[in-house]
Amino acid sequence: MIEVDKLTVRYGAATALDGVGLTVRPGEMVALIGPNGAGKSTLVNTLSGILRPAGGTVIVRGRLAHVPEGRQMFPDLTVDDNLRLGGWRGRDRDTARIYDVLPGLVGLRRRRAGQLSGGEQQMVAVGRALMARPDVLAVDELSLGLAPLVVADLARHLRTLNAEHGLAVLLIEQNARLALDLCTRGYVLEAGRVAAAGSAAELAGDPRVAAAYLGATG
Ligand code: ATP
Repeated sequence: MIEVDKLTVRYGAATALDGVGLTVRPGEMVALIGPNGAGKSTLVNTLSGILRPAGGTVIVRGRLAHVPEGRQMFPDLTVDDNLRLGGWRGRDRDTARIYDVLPGLVGLRRRRAGQLSGGEQQMVAVGRALMARPDVLAVDELSLGLAPLVVADLARHLRTLNAEHGLAVLLIEQNARLALDLCTRGYVLEAGRVAAAGSAAELAGDPRVAAAYLGATG
């Protein structure tokens, strides 16, 4: 679904990604973890075509939809209008199927997005991305600023979308525990390079990863 090889991305003279490799196969849930400034958003913005690589290759098969960091709603528009804006090239404006998969949005459809809680807005952001009928969803900081119960609910929805609809997911998270619980495989990005990669169990069992990202003391 996604094949990234030796990817280098620069902002002017500053190198944000330096020779990064990553794959996401159809139907997989893959975690991308790492500290602030590691290059996670740069990677997903390159996948979605917002940024151009300075070197290396990026192949996305099928359709990728992006849930951007910070949700980026139109605050004065209703939930339903925000969803419509996600329709692929404006052609698909039928929001009914989004309410089927995310029934929590039904009661909110006429509310202005700016008045919703952070968790509700994140649900709208996921719904808006699903409007594009993606094969793969890149979610940038699902849990940012949200309470644990709200995050658990969003995570449950992603798992269902993956299990029942075969949606592949690339989950960009600072919350490594969440990411490694939810995903089967993952990558650790540090200072623009892949510092570790493997199954979620391998990464969680790696003492260096555990100490740096899972709060383990051993
Ligand atoms: P965070 O979790 O804080 O968003 P991140 O892992 O997503 O971090 P990026 O936002 O991709 O990291 O940033 C990677 C590096 O590129 C950082 O050093 C950052 O300061 C730099 N950077 C990001 N955006 C720009 C920009 N528009 N211009 C210049 N430098 C940038």
